[in-house]
Amino acid sequence: DAVNMEEVIVLYPSPFRGHLIAMVELGKLIVKHHPSFSVTILILDTASVAQYAASSATAQYIAAVNATTPSITFHRLPPVYDVVPSSASPAESGYLLPRLNNPNLHQALQTISHTSKLKAFIIDFFCDAAFQVAANLSIPTYYFYTSSGSSLAAFLYLPTLHKSLDKSLKDLDDHLLVDIPGLPPVPASDMMKGMSDRSAKVYENFLNTATHMANSNGLIVNTFDMLERKALGAIRDGLCVPDGPTPPIFCIGPSISSSNIQDGENQHECLSWLNLQPSQSVVFLCFGSMGSFSAKQLQEIAVGLENSGQRFLWVVRNPPPDDNKEPNLDVLLPNGFLERTAERGFVVKQWAPQVEILSHGSVGGFVTHCGWNSVLEALCGGLPMVAWPLYSEQRMNRAGLVKELKVALAVTESEDGLVSAAELEKRVRELMVSEAGKEVREKVSAMRDAAMAAVEEGGSAHVALDKLAESWVTTTC
Ligand code: UDP
Repeated sequence: DAVNMEEVIVLYPSPFRGHLIAMVELGKLIVKHHPSFSVTILILDTASVAQYAASSATAQYIAAVNATTPSITFHRLPPVYDVVPSSASPAESGYLLPRLNNPNLHQALQTISHTSKLKAFIIDFFCDAAFQVAANLSIPTYYFYTSSGSSLAAFLYLPTLHKSLDKSLKDLDDHLLVDIPGLPPVPASDMMKGMSDRSAKVYENFLNTATHMANSNGLIVNTFDMLERKALGAIRDGLCVPDGPTPPIFCIGPSISSSNIQDGENQHECLSWLNLQPSQSVVFLCFGSMGSFSAKQLQEIAVGLENSGQRFLWVVRNPPPDDNKEPNLDVLLPNGFLERTAERGFVVKQWAPQVEILSHGSVGGFVTHCGWNSVLEALCGGLPMVAWPLYSEQRMNRAGLVKELKVALAVTESEDGLVSAAELEKRVRELMVSEAGKEVREKVSAMRDAAMAAVEEGGSAHVALDKLAESWVTTTC
């Protein structure tokens, strides 16, 4: 009967790895802090979309959560027969796949509502098409924004920016500064790519998402106040949505995926190698789930690392479009590079256990693409960074890390976008063995303490999770 029905929170992640894992971790936080709720996570079928080459690391992760957390249920949506064109960009397919799944979603939400009390529906911004489905079913809907509060400020401000400009950001002078509440002036060229071209489908998706977010029941963000005080303050004060409502914002971060450190035989060989290196001596280079470089850029990185004289652990992926295939290091890296650096370097093909690596005592610095999960993982490991943004909102994240927080050093690209061997060598040395690097390390260390305080009992993340759960108790559906 209705009184005894289970209270369920439904989560709808985008299948991009960084988004999916962050959402599953949110599910884990919800059931840990509020055991009276159970969580159902809807999983999109991605078999028809070449871009989401099924990652075995992601599948293993889901299987592990499934096996260890009984109050979380994974509900796989059936395949859809409309195709996502192979020409679609990641952002286009990111929006399209959930849209094609609206009938499946409607069905799933109805089924869940028949057997339980569906208290809240939490969606990724790429799953924005679900907003209308949930509204039609009168289900309270929250957005879980998996990147920085600063980029959320820009996202929410997009409809206002749209009204105040008469052309695309991409057609403005690159150096023109865009004013966004809570952020230092942002060069037009640093804005998220999806916001840059008004004629693109993704731009329209972003505009709609921003409007829906403003009208949702709440925004959940994986960040904490100390990290992004100004941007979060501007959002809370309603400055990013001057003409409309701003829903409550719940900063539940930093939440990073818990490590799956395995002992002995199952341990990744790079971790065994790290065990043999001196404390804080290794620089780690990894560029997210989608970062890949041209063959020329890979050569420059290799030369820079070799000349830096520093110990390194480097995740190498094939140049596009074969970035999902295993790289042939003998072809891609300079002749004799692996032999010459064998004593102090370790190259991993394709994918490495980043969370474990960043929390390993032998690692002393991180060259990162500034994806938000990577940034939070580095902060939690107390690691200073070299910021080398590649796609989506990463240039905006860099600005915060380098200029505001001073927890990262920036690489300088040449006109053609290449980072030269000499530039990388210089930054890696600066990070690992200079006074500037030491200052950055101290700043990160303080931020790490703040991060730990946020997730402690009584810390800001706990308070946010409590407020979130309170909002579910009071909603009737
Ligand atoms: N990651 C990993 N191994 C890799 C590359 C990435 O474990 O070789 C993980 C990383 O720890 C992070 C996520 O994948 O949790 C990437 O998310 P992020 O937001 O940093 O970047 P995105 O992939 O979304 O650009």
